[in-house]
Amino acid sequence: MLEPLARIGRDPATGGYVRDAWSEVDMELREWFAGEAARRGLDLREDRNGNLWAWWGDPAGRPGVVTGSHLDSVRQGGAYDGPLGVVSAFAAIDLLKNRGVTPGRPLGVVCFTDEEGARFGVPCMGSRLLTGAVQPDRARALTDDDGDTLADVMTRAGRKPYGIGRDDETLATVGTFVELHVEQGRGLVDQGRPVGVASTIWPHGRWRFDFRGRADHAGTTRLADRDDPMLPFARMVLAARASAERRGVVATVGKVRLSPGNANAVPGRVSAWLDARGADERDVRDLVAELAEGLDVQEESWTPVVCFDAELRDRLARVAGGDTPAPILPTGAGHDAGIMAAAGVPAGMLFVRNPTGVSHSPDEHAEQADCESGVVALADVLEDLCR
Ligand SMILES: [Zn+2]
Repeated sequence: MLEPLARIGRDPATGGYVRDAWSEVDMELREWFAGEAARRGLDLREDRNGNLWAWWGDPAGRPGVVTGSHLDSVRQGGAYDGPLGVVSAFAAIDLLKNRGVTPGRPLGVVCFTDEEGARFGVPCMGSRLLTGAVQPDRARALTDDDGDTLADVMTRAGRKPYGIGRDDETLATVGTFVELHVEQGRGLVDQGRPVGVASTIWPHGRWRFDFRGRADHAGTTRLADRDDPMLPFARMVLAARASAERRGVVATVGKVRLSPGNANAVPGRVSAWLDARGADERDVRDLVAELAEGLDVQEESWTPVVCFDAELRDRLARVAGGDTPAPILPTGAGHDAGIMAAAGVPAGMLFVRNPTGVSHSPDEHAEQADCESGVVALADVLEDLCR
């Protein structure tokens, strides 16, 4: 079932995916989702923030059990991060129908919009807007690499950007949320198990560092006369690595924007994005504070530690594990399930083994048999929760 979806937004040169929110590729992914919902007779809705919901049963007045994930991707990402959760959701519904199960509660499949934040820099935008974790004014004004705002691109896609923001009506339909996701690490490989359950999501954030200098000729400007912002930028990257090693956290500079960006000119400006995460919030905060001293830094997002609902977590581990409870693991990756949990929705996650642990890369992989174990585990969990 990943097959037809795997053709949408794939860069043939690299095998990686580019699936920016509100792009033409995103529109194709939405059509795919609508088609899968229609084929199963599910009732499709799009909320004010662009999240898609496909319902088996009517959640009006009776909160349902919701599963799903996202279809957007980091740039040059893999086939599984996001899509595996959406495809498994539909496959689990098929399995329940084959088992002759009629859920005692409404059962929904969600596709959250813009989970990766590849285009506008803020991850989990769909779930953050839904739960009010990001202010609509701020979201509307975010710009992409072309200088278009979120409001511009939503308008172009036929949506109403002035309608975005916390949506209590939609939130009220979600009684429980379970997200299945490919593991982004090697925890399950080490334990020799195909499916696991999330315990916590590490606190994490993104910060933009702006270094300003003076653009100048690379040949005729003497070194002593230069004001080159690349130098403090380079020092920041090295300091981030050293500080992260010292504190036992992770820090990454994965995106840089140069202006004017000529090979034969001293740059006038460098903007760089730092991503930092760790088990302990204080270590992450201290790292950023240390790096930010004397620099121009904007916090673009911050997500405190998320502890998933303990009762639900244990129930998932029991039901999804078969004979022995599924292993329970923390993760350094952010997810919509974390945003929902932070908003007070009972939420949990199932992870499917990733043999290499590689993620956010075309090399991301999960074995077919493990994906099938994931679908069975998800179906078992949904059947249990919908009783
Ligand atoms: Zn994901």
